[in-house]
Amino acid sequence: MGTATALKHDTEIQSADTPMMAQYKAVKAAHPDCLLFYRMGDFYELFFEDALIAASALDITLTKRGKNQGEEIPMCGVPYHSCDPYLARLIKAGHKVAICEQLETPDEAKIRSKNEGKPASKALVRREVSRIITPGTITEDHLLEAGSHNFLACIALHQGRFGLALADLSTGIFKLQALESGSISQSLDSLQAAEILIPESLRDDSKNWVQLSETKITFQPDSLFDAGNAEKRLCNHFDVLSVDSLGVFSRAEIMAAGSLIDYIDRTQKGKIPHLSRPETMAVSGIMQIDPATRRSLELTRTLNGNRKGSLLDCIDHTSSPAGARLLQFHLAQPLTDRKAIERRHDRISCLQHDPNLHRILKDHLRQIPDIERALSRLTADRGGPRDLIMIRSGLQQSEIIRAALQTNNPASDIFSDCITILQQDPQLADLQDQLGRALNETPPFLARDGGFIAQGYSARLDELRLLRDESRRLIAGLQVKYQQDTGIDRLKISHNNVLGYFIEVTSKQAKPLLLQKSNATSPYIHRQTTANAVRFTTTELAELERDISSAAEKMLALELEIFNQLKMQVSACADKISRLALTLAEIDIAASHAQLAMEWNFVRPVLTDGRDFEIIGGRHPVVDQSLRQLQTVFVANDSDLGADQNLWLLTGPNMAGKSTFLRQNALIAILAQIGGFVPAQKATIGMIDKVFSRVGASDDIARGHSTFMVEMVETAVILNQATERSLVILDEIGRGTSTFDGLSIAWACVEHLHDVNRSRTIFATHYRELTALTSRLKSLSCRSMAVKEWQGDIIFMHQVIQGAADRSYGIHVAKLAGLPASVLDRARDVLALLEKSEQTGSISKLSDDLPLFSMREPAQKILSASESLLSALNPDDLSPKEALEWLYRLKSA
Ligand code: ATP
Repeated sequence: MGTATALKHDTEIQSADTPMMAQYKAVKAAHPDCLLFYRMGDFYELFFEDALIAASALDITLTKRGKNQGEEIPMCGVPYHSCDPYLARLIKAGHKVAICEQLETPDEAKIRSKNEGKPASKALVRREVSRIITPGTITEDHLLEAGSHNFLACIALHQGRFGLALADLSTGIFKLQALESGSISQSLDSLQAAEILIPESLRDDSKNWVQLSETKITFQPDSLFDAGNAEKRLCNHFDVLSVDSLGVFSRAEIMAAGSLIDYIDRTQKGKIPHLSRPETMAVSGIMQIDPATRRSLELTRTLNGNRKGSLLDCIDHTSSPAGARLLQFHLAQPLTDRKAIERRHDRISCLQHDPNLHRILKDHLRQIPDIERALSRLTADRGGPRDLIMIRSGLQQSEIIRAALQTNNPASDIFSDCITILQQDPQLADLQDQLGRALNETPPFLARDGGFIAQGYSARLDELRLLRDESRRLIAGLQVKYQQDTGIDRLKISHNNVLGYFIEVTSKQAKPLLLQKSNATSPYIHRQTTANAVRFTTTELAELERDISSAAEKMLALELEIFNQLKMQVSACADKISRLALTLAEIDIAASHAQLAMEWNFVRPVLTDGRDFEIIGGRHPVVDQSLRQLQTVFVANDSDLGADQNLWLLTGPNMAGKSTFLRQNALIAILAQIGGFVPAQKATIGMIDKVFSRVGASDDIARGHSTFMVEMVETAVILNQATERSLVILDEIGRGTSTFDGLSIAWACVEHLHDVNRSRTIFATHYRELTALTSRLKSLSCRSMAVKEWQGDIIFMHQVIQGAADRSYGIHVAKLAGLPASVLDRARDVLALLEKSEQTGSISKLSDDLPLFSMREPAQKILSASESLLSALNPDDLSPKEALEWLYRLKSA
């Protein structure tokens, strides 16, 4: 900076009065909560605070440009043609981005300015925000995960009742749910919404609803949740006279839905992608799993936040992205309707018993493109010819899949509802025919690149192409003619984007042609001289070129017209296409579960309306798979929480497999109720309304909760909410406080679960004292983890056996973990005294017997025979033969 040019530049951009800065500020003022990507030529530029935020979030250079009220304006930019990775990072960091595009080129702006009677030199390019990208409104494939939904949620409140609207713009899903305030956090957590719209007046309440830190909360003015407007919005969008035609929804649901559509409209600047008609998600038909349980069971992510290692990752054998998304949705919403679950089981059984049909389906499911996302892009006017190809091949594959199911017994019966939906009606058949005839196999990404309409589809297009090809042939003819005329064999006619068609010869060969320049009859007109060549044109060539480019323009216009017609035809079938896509996803899920049955021995659970919970040979699906990969055997275990022993008290040392056993039972219950098979030899499960799990310690420092506080809050939820139909697994209640406090809390919890909740429960504990409760609580049954002692060490059998553990083995486990020998010795002494005091009832005397800080000196280490031999050895002094002899001697020592 500092040069005259730089100063001039500064002056142009410096004052808020310059037209461009005024334009920038006006756009920014209309989008205060967004980072403004302001298009300037080949870059999106950010200014002021936006630049500071983006430069730090994206780790890009922050520069300065011009001045504003005497202060330099911070600026940074990203290239427009490769802005996606930058956008992805900003969105992931929770920002919203407004994309402000140039609506005309600088040349067009100059012409417009002149036409408006203003000086061309002061022309300002017109710009407008074309779209606001927020975490919940992304539709670009590369900004989304293929196998996960990207939900935008909206909560509204009407007369004490809440309504939730949920949409995935990238797939067209649109669902509504009526909620009590207590179930909001559960619903939001299970769906893992990317963004949630909440009325300003509920700002305080929302603190308890949203647990995921990566969820973006967008507060909206309460006025946007007006019931009357919401109703109008819904009616307009779905083109119905009354919302009643859409279904029976509560006022709060309608308010949430209307406000959500309004937000999509505002962010997408009127180009709303296809949304299915709203469907009800009834809370009553869904197994309730609270956020803490969901996390502790690692349903979709591990405690570290990774998909790998989660239940979803382990059971996902789907072949299509839509199948993977639906499986994740099923896991968010296990069912409680036995009949509906059994229908899903029937499909899996059918495919499990017909491996040939399973293979055919898998082969074709794998070839199904992401139709839902292609449809969303096309209907939002962001699609290209490749999206049409995706719809076409989706329709083709769905036909093959339908035929495979229809011609098979009993599949034709079991999948009859799927077959009905996949059966194409005349409208879809016509679309498939049009797309089949219209499109080339490998079209470009953007329609404006042209060349994607197949030969034979449009007579006019074929004619233009003929004209273009004919002109090209004529040009090839001209090349031969000019070679003969000039006697230059290596003369050639080439093309580039700057000059168009031109005649090219080497500099040496060009001399005679250049000499003819003054000769008025010479046809060769000089265009350009480069380092090695000279370029000419002729009137004939220029005319042919004009013909070609006019044909190209006409061809492109025609292709775009055809593209738009096909796009409209797809939009007209949008509902049918999305129903078809959903059905294919359901078939994909059935095939995925069947694969688990075939490869990993999952079995069909027997469901009852009673309170059964009998699992024979149950396994933890994730641990089982990972142990098998290590060639280790997972020890299967039985559980039976039937009516007369619905509360199991499980004791046993650490590392013996208690948590694994607890979790595997909860996972088996959830897998059964999402309509899947389960990792067991046999399972009989009475329908479960809620699953609760408290396994493992965690804290919630952000909310000021210590580990013990979190433990107590989660336990309180269970004791207050678990019912006779629930499944509860609890580990280590009361461990975070003093022994007597902890024992008392655990004791009281067991009694409450037994007498009040009466849920099917497995309660794992280290307090062996609790086993005394068996004499009083008739449904309490003791189980323990089998361990073997061998030469002072313990071996974990990972087996659940009848009865209580006789010892804790904590010191053994501490030894395995590598605690210093002196600490272990001291711990043994303390334990011996504690046990003695317990027997004599003189625990209060302990402090005298065990004075604090009076540790024993580390004991002189007594060496074993082999250790003594080894210590006397110097390996450097040994020959190989001697070393071998020593080895034999040591072995027998
Ligand atoms: P802690 O109380 O310390 O959490 P725990 O008794 O709950 O211990 P787990 O964490 O369930 O023990 O299991 C410890 C390890 O034992 C697991 O990582 C797993 O590899 C192995 N394990 C658990 N159950 C089995 C099983 N049934 N078969 C084989 N290995 C198992």
